[in-house]
Amino acid sequence: MSRERLKIDTRLVQTERCSGDTHRAVCTPIYQTATFEQESALDFSAYDYSRSGNPTRTVLEQQLAELEHGTRAFAFASGLAAITAVTRLLEPGDEILAVDDVYGGTCRLFSRILSRSKISVRYVRGTSAEDFAPHLSSNTRLIHIETPTNPLLRVVDIAGLAKLAHDHGALLCVDNTMLSPYLQNPLDLGADIVVHSATKALCGHSDVIAGAVVVRNTELAEALYLIQNGEGAGLSPFDSYLLLRGIKTLGIRLDRQQENSAQIAAFLQGHPVVRKIYYPSLLDKRNFAIHLRQARGNGAVVSFETGSLEASRQLVESLKLFPITVSFGGLQSSVSLPGRMSHASVPDHVAAKRQLPVDLIRLSVGIEDADDLIADLEQALAAVETVTELRASAG
Ligand SMILES: *Cc1c(COP(=O)(O)O)cnc(C)c1O
Repeated sequence: MSRERLKIDTRLVQTERCSGDTHRAVCTPIYQTATFEQESALDFSAYDYSRSGNPTRTVLEQQLAELEHGTRAFAFASGLAAITAVTRLLEPGDEILAVDDVYGGTCRLFSRILSRSKISVRYVRGTSAEDFAPHLSSNTRLIHIETPTNPLLRVVDIAGLAKLAHDHGALLCVDNTMLSPYLQNPLDLGADIVVHSATKALCGHSDVIAGAVVVRNTELAEALYLIQNGEGAGLSPFDSYLLLRGIKTLGIRLDRQQENSAQIAAFLQGHPVVRKIYYPSLLDKRNFAIHLRQARGNGAVVSFETGSLEASRQLVESLKLFPITVSFGGLQSSVSLPGRMSHASVPDHVAAKRQLPVDLIRLSVGIEDADDLIADLEQALAAVETVTELRASAG
């Protein structure tokens, strides 16, 4: 049976072996070596130097390419290194159009670092080709989106933006970190490039910082390989091994995380302390329909507002099973206040326009028992209610 015909849960586990491994190791060995001996002065083997290529990383890259339905993938030392590599395809004078609710670190890269190379960025508050079209210029080379966005979980129309980008000779890059290839495959919808912070769901165990770029087009692949090798931000053999190990359980982890996130969203929906919830299936009809066209699930993140920063701060500090951490997608639940944590890196002039609610709480839902998670949320919400009532009666 050819691998392409296997279903994703099988492919996740049945990773290709390292080519030429005489011992037929079931787990991918860690080739912890910087250099590889050449057969002779003029004969090169498949590998010579681990910055340029390493067998452990190759297995990972093949796995990532396959999962995203691409032809080639490149593993990087972080998600931001992967996104940086994509921006290296641009030249001075080029312009990036990005969805405004973009990851804070991406925003910092675009707005504070790329400007030094005379590459400019415009942020669009919108989710459709119609929203983006008026902001295109003859210099637009790249449209960069996430969907659902982080942390407001807005759904952006991948196919619509792919067509818009291509009509203008630009590339569409989709940051697929939020849903992972288990739930969404942007290349199938016309995107040219998929990037990941593999630190999140792909790894799933919060023990690796890693990133990936996946493409279908061979010219793009060659350009990206030149960048990966030439700049030297490729993923190390050991981290490649850890990521390969984490990816094997992506399917069962996300199935369970999604069951839990759905129960938590339903619980929060009726609670008096909760002002507003952000979760794909609770979107308005039109946006949820777009989500259903392009994705196969809600994912593991639920965001909500309480009405005040003080109430939100108290709530997250009252939780016992959700450590306050940046990041998301791991098998252990966690909580954050994105406006004060992961998105504090957004430069002020961009943040002012972005309208990220200060009281926004983002839950990353893990694989624990949903009853325990809900009981914990219940006690933390009750603590906030009590304080709010006391304040009201005192005032
Ligand atoms: C975390 C994150 C990144 C950055 O990835 P790192 O691995 O932390 O460098 C990029 N995009 C999204 C959507 C993220 O959540």
